Amino acid sequence: MEVCLSFDNGPEPEATPLVLAALGRRGLTATFFPIARKLRDPARRALAERALAEGHRIGNHTLTHGAPLGLRGGAEAVAEITEAEALLGPLNAGRLFRPNGGGGALGPHLLNASALRHLRAQAYTVVLWNAVPGDFRDPEGWPATALAQCRAASAPVLMVLHDLPNGAMRHLDAVLDRLTGEGARFLGEFPEACLALREGAPLCDLAAISREDIAP
Ligand SMILES: [Zn+2]
Repeated sequence: MEVCLSFDNGPEPEATPLVLAALGRRGLTATFFPIARKLRDPARRALAERALAEGHRIGNHTLTHGAPLGLRGGAEAVAEITEAEALLGPLNAGRLFRPNGGGGALGPHLLNASALRHLRAQAYTVVLWNAVPGDFRDPEGWPATALAQCRAASAPVLMVLHDLPNGAMRHLDAVLDRLTGEGARFLGEFPEACLALREGAPLCDLAAISREDIAP
């Protein structure tokens, strides 16, 4: 069992410190994909800076996390990326990007042609995922789902969790203990099968996740 951890949609003062503590106790590193507009709040920005200082990575997950970029006009989709990047600045030194939407299902809603062109031209690494245990909607039940998804996986798992203030992250310690007890190895690098682009170069068939813009 190989597991790479990511935490999306924070930072949140009620959740991100719990995540950082749980990871720090075990010497694990993860990637955080904050909703960039939250970084306008100095307290939330400080949490992202702390995560970076503690060895974690930060990536671009759009400015507003609104409608998925594939459902937007081209200019609007690109602005979601560039305005987020302006807020992230040096936090996103690795030029990581993760699209949002669709309950984790990969599909043409994720990116449109303009967004994809921008990501390629700017040499982004586009990080997808293959496990979403649903902590954002099931704060008590997600640990069982996460364990089941890891046990069932035949390939390295890139799990999406959320540092949101719904109580779910109180269970993170127990989940990490359980996975460790079952022999899981935690990966510092993303499983290659979960990358759509690496530094701008395609690693998968992008026809499946891109289409022409639906509006200018
Ligand atoms: Zn998200």
